[in-house]
Amino acid sequence: MASIRSEAIPPFIVMDVLEKAQELERAGAKVIHLEIGEPDFDTPRKIADAAIAAIRRGETHYTHSMGILPLREAIAAHYQKRYGVSVSPEQVIVSMGSSHGLLLTLCSLLDPGDEVVLSNPCYACYPNFVRYIEGRPAFVPVHAEEGFALEPEAVQKVLSPRTKAILINSPSNPTGNLLPADVMRSISHLGPYIVSDEIYHGLVYGEREHSILEFTDRAFVLNGFSKLYAMTGWRLGYIIAPREFVRPMQKSQQNLFICSSSVSQWAGLAALTEEHPEIPRMVATYDERRKVMIKGLRELGLHVAVEPTGAFYVLADARSFSTDSYALAFDILGKAHVAVAPGIDFGSNAEGFLRFSYANSLENIAEGLARLKQYLAP
Ligand code: PMP
Repeated sequence: MASIRSEAIPPFIVMDVLEKAQELERAGAKVIHLEIGEPDFDTPRKIADAAIAAIRRGETHYTHSMGILPLREAIAAHYQKRYGVSVSPEQVIVSMGSSHGLLLTLCSLLDPGDEVVLSNPCYACYPNFVRYIEGRPAFVPVHAEEGFALEPEAVQKVLSPRTKAILINSPSNPTGNLLPADVMRSISHLGPYIVSDEIYHGLVYGEREHSILEFTDRAFVLNGFSKLYAMTGWRLGYIIAPREFVRPMQKSQQNLFICSSSVSQWAGLAALTEEHPEIPRMVATYDERRKVMIKGLRELGLHVAVEPTGAFYVLADARSFSTDSYALAFDILGKAHVAVAPGIDFGSNAEGFLRFSYANSLENIAEGLARLKQYLAP
């Protein structure tokens, strides 16, 4: 029997859908993938070239546990340039993706029994991370009719003496919602540290996104290269932490992981310091797909109350077809060979919803919608 902790962690259901889809593909099916939150684009060329050059230069050793200095400087400069906030490279810890960044952050913040405020729905892994390290999630419901907007008053209601952090994610997975500046400001004044997952920054189609550091220094930023730079497989991200947390996080990093991949770090430096014509093209393409996806889902009777304007997801209401999103998603996969993410993965408030990722070609989105139309036909 494995440990209680590892037995108890729930699966990341999206990955279970993906793995089931891959099984169907091995048996010869052509599956349309609208489940995974992963860019379908290749990493921009100059970034890949920088990694190859780093390997050839012999940059293949352990690095400083917190990351190579030029990358930490470039991250600090990026936050200064994009958001006008002052960050020291000493506050930057390079991680193996923002997932690793979240683990280091929560480990530095929580003792057993401490609470983290999360929206319901939220990114599926957040509550699983919190429980894994013996913390407790405190959920704030957000609603489709209000575009899944997080209300500071509702956050305040769930605060307790055990609340250590409020975790926000704008643009959001799974809702595509963006937090307006006034909401971020109000939340940052509530008292607990804010953990701000900024991994979808840059993927916005309308109003601009804000960093939590524009409003408070009592915050941890989680960010990385997976989404905007199409670098999921490079496993590269970073944390910007308040100074008093840096040394404890550094010690954890040294012991648990040593450092992030040296080659990926050199690639990340090129990502931040060079021009990449591919990136605005990718963003424009996502926007085009977003519009097609929303229109297509609405035509199928999958209700989208408020149009999402960030990340690459649409969380659509499928309750007129089924209130069991898990069964519905696997039935759609089995019968129509379209892979979608069940809302229940993201929280009880998304039960009856399905999350559609538009990180796929217009052609595949059209084919997926056509298959769904047939599946849903009475
Ligand atoms: N946060 C959110 C909201 C995500 O959607 C994801 C990826 N699905 C991550 C963090 C983790 O991304 P990575 O570890 O590749 O940076």
